[in-house]
Amino acid sequence: MLTLRDILPHFSNRKSKVANALGISRQAVSKWDLDDAIPEKHELRIRHELLPNIDDSQVITAAELPAPRKTNELLKSEKLDDVLYEIRGPVLDEALKLEEEGYRVTKLNVGNPAAFDLHAPEEIIQDVIYNLNSAEGYCESRGLFPARKAVMQECQIRGIPDVTINDIYMGNGVSELIVMCMQALINNGDEILIPAPDYPLWTAAVRLAGGKPVHYLCDEENGWQPYLEDIKRKISPRTRGLVVINPNNPTGAVYEKDILLGLVNIAKDNNLVLLADEIYDKILYDDAIHIPMASLTDDILVITFNGLSKSYRLAGFRAGWIIISGAKHRARDFIEGIHMLSSMRLCANVPGQLAVQTALGGYQSIKDLILPGGRLSEQRDVACDMLNDIPGVSCVKPRGALYVFPRLDPKIYPIADDEELVLELLKSKHLLLVQGTAFNWPTPDHLRLVFLPRKEELSKAIDKLGAFLKKYRG
Ligand code: PLP
Repeated sequence: MLTLRDILPHFSNRKSKVANALGISRQAVSKWDLDDAIPEKHELRIRHELLPNIDDSQVITAAELPAPRKTNELLKSEKLDDVLYEIRGPVLDEALKLEEEGYRVTKLNVGNPAAFDLHAPEEIIQDVIYNLNSAEGYCESRGLFPARKAVMQECQIRGIPDVTINDIYMGNGVSELIVMCMQALINNGDEILIPAPDYPLWTAAVRLAGGKPVHYLCDEENGWQPYLEDIKRKISPRTRGLVVINPNNPTGAVYEKDILLGLVNIAKDNNLVLLADEIYDKILYDDAIHIPMASLTDDILVITFNGLSKSYRLAGFRAGWIIISGAKHRARDFIEGIHMLSSMRLCANVPGQLAVQTALGGYQSIKDLILPGGRLSEQRDVACDMLNDIPGVSCVKPRGALYVFPRLDPKIYPIADDEELVLELLKSKHLLLVQGTAFNWPTPDHLRLVFLPRKEELSKAIDKLGAFLKKYRG
């Protein structure tokens, strides 16, 4: 019997190299515990790799392995070994290869509105151009005053109390700010509660900072609302923060007020920082209402994450922000950490910040897309209806955001490896989706689709998925 601990030195102590040698996903290897036996079929391959002349039936122990070979290969840092971001992972590499060979791939893998002809209002672009000459230099590390003022005024309108201009930091998209806040908060071994399924950057950023992501379940049968009892069960003395993604990527859930209050109470009772990712707060369907987490409490620290990428279709501008609210007086040291990291990168992209004031003020053009008859609302309906029509596929109707996260009934689709399934779909139908486990969903029985393409293209793509699954059912 061999364990991961036994074989890692033979692979430069990198799980990624074990995965490559076995031809399996890094996600699969990252789930193995160091001291658990390696699954038999994989152990056999490892034995052949390390001891080519060994008999298959012979039992091998760590003592019988040869000394690890010395290598002068340049390796990435060990910090990165557990960090995964499969939305842009190996399957995308395969899609790019197909495109290089001249194939047209329908990419429903990334929520990038502009790539699907969903453009920002011209007024925003015109104002950025008008002001561009003033964007040559660095700005204050927190960000441009008018941009932060606009965010501050939005806090006033949305009922987030006691936010001053200095409680707002602009960043190169929410992504940079997630990584920055995790670096500022986490000591090695600290735990952060993250939803499953999640937007996987959260899990990656926690690992990169030396922390341990602990996933709490969201309940598909209850419209993907967070399962509060599961969160309570998973709190330990090392838990420092609770991530809430609302509206949610990948499920499209918009959380009810009683659930949000339940989350606030859990954070309060356990002295946790609430990390509220609300980047889809204006992309709501039907009668869904978004309640900002920070409007529900002033006695715990809340960091709200938002930006221009989705509601304003400006993902390429890399413009996002955080709002620090609530118990700031008890978090001075942590806030100093955020300030230090924000100063170290000097400032966020200044041209991108020029868009914030115009975007947040005045008419909110996203409404035209999400109301009944609007492009996003109609595309959501098409995606859901067509998916639900495929035998064994069911999907909870999203009430917000840009994604559907359908379930493939395991009795009809006994999927062992969902990354493999997505790869097969890509190769046979030139359609790129993302497997559910890439969102830290524990079982290989979900897929995520972006419903950004126009109805005709979306229908064609889902028809292709249906045809592929029909073959899979046999
Ligand atoms: N948070 C969530 C939930 C997202 O879905 C995304 C992007 O898809 C981000 C953050 C990153 O956004 P940004 O473009 O501002 O970095």
